[in-house]
Amino acid sequence: MKFATRAIHVGQEADEATGATIVPIYQTSTYTQDAVGSHKGFDYSRTVNPTRVALEAQLASLENAQHGSAFASGMAATAAVLNTLAMGDHVVVTDDLYGGTYRLFSRVLTRYGLEFTYVDMADLAAVRAAIRPNTKMFWIETPTNPLLKLIDIAAICSLRTAGQIVVVDNTFASPYFQSPLALGADIVVHSTTKYIGGHSDVIGGVAITSNDDLHESIKFHQNAVGGVPSPHDAWLTMRGAKTLALRMRQHAENAQRIAEFLEAHAEVERVFYPGLPSHPQHALAKRQMSGFAGMVSFTLRGPMERALTFAPKLQYFSLAESLGGVESLICHPARMTHGSIPKEDRERRGVTDGLLRLSVGIEDADDLIADLTSALESL
Ligand SMILES: *Cc1c(COP(=O)(O)O)cnc(C)c1O
Repeated sequence: MKFATRAIHVGQEADEATGATIVPIYQTSTYTQDAVGSHKGFDYSRTVNPTRVALEAQLASLENAQHGSAFASGMAATAAVLNTLAMGDHVVVTDDLYGGTYRLFSRVLTRYGLEFTYVDMADLAAVRAAIRPNTKMFWIETPTNPLLKLIDIAAICSLRTAGQIVVVDNTFASPYFQSPLALGADIVVHSTTKYIGGHSDVIGGVAITSNDDLHESIKFHQNAVGGVPSPHDAWLTMRGAKTLALRMRQHAENAQRIAEFLEAHAEVERVFYPGLPSHPQHALAKRQMSGFAGMVSFTLRGPMERALTFAPKLQYFSLAESLGGVESLICHPARMTHGSIPKEDRERRGVTDGLLRLSVGIEDADDLIADLTSALESL
């Protein structure tokens, strides 16, 4: 079965009790047993719920994997994966990390005795130098936010030795354009809030693996810690995921056109998009991804304040955090998503006050480009 077919059919069998074609929202916390201990495989909805089971099968299939565990948010999925480690374990992490993940690692998990080293993972020598005897995990995000730098997943996997695992946060690429497990990773994490859900109406996360032992450990922590999605949220995510292939093709087509448009515009200083030949890692992007998704960042010429006045001029790009929905968004990373990082740190990483980030939606690209054109002209 190919990707678009799996998205619509895996886990989506007609309901056994009623024949309902669409998996029902099993809005129940508990299940009636015939006799003590005799039930249909469902006992309590934190542990297992049929709507969530359907979503987990669907999302695992999108990464061509054996197992998925769904969570109430991307952060809950990330936390469950980190829960599989023990006090004293060490993690090598991408330095250009999603802010919420950095906060979880640096302000929560260090208090439980986990150790983290942040390195520029594009530099393999730096990654090698960061490895310690107690290193148990590599944590990769690619493309990164908001500069859309790439990390070579297969190259990082080649540094892994026995007892170490590689985890990839695949949120920005989506499973449609990047398959980390096929490149050698052990676990994939998604914030399903973004492309997978795709409609900016539900928070969720998933951890996916084909390794039985890792799956068992994640499942144990999913139940023991309890960060599970509601049946209704699981259902919304599942509905969104059915159209992932269609949406991703349109996100990528629109983003490519917009990136090319911006790069050619006199008011624009620099564009960051892996699908542009000017992207320093365009060759790696073509090797590692089958498309470049919908995130485009850019800087305007002239004083940095122009970035602040530009964003509200747009009609179709809402000024908002988050990404991956059908509607286009614009954000000012230095003041919004990355506002909690000290200015000096932020600028060293290239997240300057003049940087703008677009989540290109699936509206008609002509309308989006006309919108950008008039906002640029009015600067
Ligand atoms: C949004 C996001 C997360 C966190 O997911 P939530 O669903 O907001 O908890 C993690 N990683 C990346 C790359 C994200 O964009």
